[in-house]
Amino acid sequence: MQKTFATYETVKVLLPIAVGDGYDYIVPMSLGEVRVGDMVRVPLRNAEEIGLVIGAGNSSLPKEKIKPIISAVKNLPPVPEKLLKFMAQVADYTMTPLGNVLSLMIPESKAFEPPKNEDIFCLADGWKNAWSALSDARKTDAKKRVVECLEDAEKIGINGYAMKDLSSISSASTSVVKGMHGAKILAKKSAPKNLFGDYADYQIKYGSDNIKLSDEQQNAFANIVRKIAEFSATLIDGVTGSGKTEIYFRIIAEILKSDTDKQVLIMLPEISLTAQFLQKFKSRFGIFPTLWHSGLTATMRARNYNAIANGIAKIVVGPRSALFLPYKNLAFITVDEEHDGSYKQEEGAVYNARDMAVLRAKTENIPIVLASATPSVESYFNVEQKKYGIEKLHKRFSNATLPDVELIDMKDFENKPQKTVLGQSWFAPAVLKKIETEIIAGNQAMIFLNRRGYAPLLVCTKCGYKAACPNCDVSMVAHGVKITPQPDGKNKISGTVKCHHCGYFSSIRSTCPACGCDGNFALVGPGVDRIKLEIDERFSRYKSLVMSSDTINTSRKLNDTIAAIENREIDIIIGTQILSKGHHFPNLTLVVVVDGDMGIAGDDFRGAEKTFSMLHQVSGRAGRENKKGTVMIQTYNPEMVVMRHLKSGDKNAFIAAEMRNRRDAKMPPFAHLAALIISGKNKSKVENFCREILKSAPKDSLKKFRIMGPVDAPIAMLNGNYRKRFLVQSNLEISMQKLIRLWLGKIKIPNGIKLKIDIDPYNFM
Ligand code: ADP
Ligand code: ZN
Repeated sequence: MQKTFATYETVKVLLPIAVGDGYDYIVPMSLGEVRVGDMVRVPLRNAEEIGLVIGAGNSSLPKEKIKPIISAVKNLPPVPEKLLKFMAQVADYTMTPLGNVLSLMIPESKAFEPPKNEDIFCLADGWKNAWSALSDARKTDAKKRVVECLEDAEKIGINGYAMKDLSSISSASTSVVKGMHGAKILAKKSAPKNLFGDYADYQIKYGSDNIKLSDEQQNAFANIVRKIAEFSATLIDGVTGSGKTEIYFRIIAEILKSDTDKQVLIMLPEISLTAQFLQKFKSRFGIFPTLWHSGLTATMRARNYNAIANGIAKIVVGPRSALFLPYKNLAFITVDEEHDGSYKQEEGAVYNARDMAVLRAKTENIPIVLASATPSVESYFNVEQKKYGIEKLHKRFSNATLPDVELIDMKDFENKPQKTVLGQSWFAPAVLKKIETEIIAGNQAMIFLNRRGYAPLLVCTKCGYKAACPNCDVSMVAHGVKITPQPDGKNKISGTVKCHHCGYFSSIRSTCPACGCDGNFALVGPGVDRIKLEIDERFSRYKSLVMSSDTINTSRKLNDTIAAIENREIDIIIGTQILSKGHHFPNLTLVVVVDGDMGIAGDDFRGAEKTFSMLHQVSGRAGRENKKGTVMIQTYNPEMVVMRHLKSGDKNAFIAAEMRNRRDAKMPPFAHLAALIISGKNKSKVENFCREILKSAPKDSLKKFRIMGPVDAPIAMLNGNYRKRFLVQSNLEISMQKLIRLWLGKIKIPNGIKLKIDIDPYNFM
């Protein structure tokens, strides 16, 4: 039972802000009483804020000076004690103020405002006639999903959805929804926001288990299900397309069948939450899942939040933020693509959602499954340490074979990209030949280069000036480039240069700001747009398309593009890491990696691991059905361990080698690591503060830890802020948090200086 407080008692209310550990408020007569875990509206300065009652107040102020709570948030049960405990553990582990962690749990307060009228779309009266009037070709998958989604809604007593939500839940573009409205399949109404719906009456179909699991799948499933009564962590390590999703779907069905009060959470990187995934989900469970992500409207967030907190929503799907919701009765978590870097949040509360998910599972005493085709070194380490169990899937489903990987040694003369009338090529001739062979045969090819834009560098060939961001210590990337040859033989370059960190951009001028010469700029290196130019010139009869965060900036665009690829409207797909996610294109037989060496050098000790996992995932897009796939990786370092194992496909050998390196270098997971980033606009202030904290750094008399720095952070200036970095490395038996608290506990951070503590840093910038 949660502790309760009566009228006129003082309670401590935690607010979703980075400062303080809560403020005191009086329980007003209007509320009667409040409980620990209740969400309440309180006055804060001149605004109203939503906070969480966490215990008794302790202010020494006279009671009449303490402000009363304004109201309680209706319809929500108190936040379970286990969740409060989890939040405290997250705050402790990540060294983040508890209020920052709370802000992960409560969405913007707009989501709790009383319902107002809004425009919603629902199935029109007589929609079935309008639907049958469409030709089969025009009954597209997207339209079918919209219809299914609204049928689902009717079943759970929701009278329709706002445009943004409808398109989000059904993964159809807003133009599809508008078109269906025009075709009288959908009607638009102004309706009061229906916060709840009546989920309770609706039964999820847990799927007829008519998909027969393979022996490997069945084994994994049985082993995990045997342990579902309490905490256990299991890594599902299965090659791409081996049916990992099917295993956790089956586990979920099993759990919910046995107890319909339970809830489960599927965590996915935002970008993997595609129509393909939703469709797969729908065909298994009969409805779409309850979504939780930043793309939903406040109404939808309120609705889903309520459904989750009241235990009505059974299966929740979302990226990292879904982990912090107040599930009433969470029984299982799965983290798909567990290796994915997007689980790391870098702003506010700095945490890795995969690791915190394991912590939550422990606190709730429930099982968790981490799944990946390229599990992280950390997870393998945890398997070695017997903290996680492991289930391996070696075979692709229906025996599709893994692709052949060829390393193209770019040092070889025969692989030197040619300069032709079409200009400089970025491909070895053999690679171009292979692309041609595949597309002529009617297959699709994918070209991977993890670099947005046209070229990563704009330089003056006279003085060596490089276009750099005025706010950040990085080169700017050329976008939207047009090159027009001039009568004098020079090229006129037009377009913009952009900073990928702060968003600063300017148009490309013809005079160099450093030496004043005119028309001597050159673009160095390729980005995906430059690759497209070459591909289109060489294979003009075929259709290509670029997928990068510039072209695919909403999940709808992603879905539309995936649909176009599936429908074979596209022959050659060129793209950045967006391509490495779990897409499944049956006709894709060739994957080309333009620059396999990118990302290996540099000061990220995970460079090789990240490269391996990214290239292995990209390779996994080829030959997913009965057509054999080929992968060609252009590299200057074919002898490197990561390249050799990409070729052999021997993931275990790579991991074993990588583990040895990490152990020798005393790097995670064989050591703890933390980064302190000190930043501020005033350079000398930043430097002085660094000197001050260096002075009070604890002494490592027993050689159990090392403090390195301060040095310039890899990006020494970001958004106009100077940045310095300390790295702290310690033996595993040392508590990094204790050490840092001991060190920084008494230090006051001056105004204008920001100190970011990053436990288990993942991105070194
Ligand atoms: P992964 O998550 O490992 O990449 P998926 O779960 O997406 O793999 O499965 C790959 C493909 O194989 C999908 O099209 C899926 O529907 C199919 N599949 C997986 N398991 C089975 C099964 N037991 N029977 C039939 N098809 C399956
Ligand atoms: Zn910048």
